[in-house]
Amino acid sequence: MGFFRTVLGDIPSEKMGICDSHEHIVIEESYPTLGNADFLLNDVEKICLELSELKALGCQTIVDTMPANAGRNILKSVEISKKTAINLIVPTGVHLEKYYPKSHWRYQYSAEQLTDLFVADIETGIDKFDYNGPIVERSEHKAGLIKLATGDELITKHQEKIFQAVVNTHLKTGVPILTHTNNGKHAIAQAELFEKMGANLNHLVISHVDKNKDLTYHHDLMQMGVSVEYDSAFRWKKDEENWTYTLLEQLLPLYPKQITVGMDAARNTYWKSYQGNPGLDYLLTTFVQGLKNRNLETYFTKIFIENPARIFCFEH
Ligand SMILES: [Zn+2]
Repeated sequence: MGFFRTVLGDIPSEKMGICDSHEHIVIEESYPTLGNADFLLNDVEKICLELSELKALGCQTIVDTMPANAGRNILKSVEISKKTAINLIVPTGVHLEKYYPKSHWRYQYSAEQLTDLFVADIETGIDKFDYNGPIVERSEHKAGLIKLATGDELITKHQEKIFQAVVNTHLKTGVPILTHTNNGKHAIAQAELFEKMGANLNHLVISHVDKNKDLTYHHDLMQMGVSVEYDSAFRWKKDEENWTYTLLEQLLPLYPKQITVGMDAARNTYWKSYQGNPGLDYLLTTFVQGLKNRNLETYFTKIFIENPARIFCFEH
């Protein structure tokens, strides 16, 4: 096994420990928070408090999934990682179009120019200004993941350019890829495009697919060999079927190496330290209890430790 890249440096994969595979730890005041005030996660003290609860439950690594120019603050990420002794993986790449103004550089720059920006985040260090302006001042703290996102519509021409830049970066640096889907839509189209562009599907995680209730679609996706990330166990209403568990029951026995879990709790209203609920500790308390209730606890090591360690590792 190789290594995973945290904001404090590279760590051998076997030391990843329990990993929360999709979270939002820092969201600084930014274009996304203008439209969604509850996305704001920038109070280091509150963030450390929330994370220390997770740490006490055994969590050692968290994948933060806010990519370039959408609220990253690398210096705060570093401070939080040091204070909580939790490994933080921070991504480069870009998020959904709606989180950027219409005039954004993501539309102006070529795939090659985007590749250069992403590679520099991974190999040199993340810009202290998060690519907000013309001056770039790189920190020594590197990105360990690259992210892209697709929405409700079929993959667009613009998104194809982003895919190309992400794959170029992945092939150049060995960085693992994580994607956003809207409610699990177009996950197969994403996987097909990555495959066509030559990405290593062993290091691709497609997020939020547990929002999709079509079992055939899930089987087709898993048979492509990609990995998925489930994070909606806490979102299903009490009086409806919890499809996250239903999918885990159906799919874990067949594809035990391809599933990771997180919460994607990107709103401060989900955080106890911001007076919200259920709190990030839900993942290692209520959710794990739910696994036990369904006799799925034998898969704990796979979905929390072995799979993230294998998937989020750099491939050279
Ligand atoms: Zn997310």
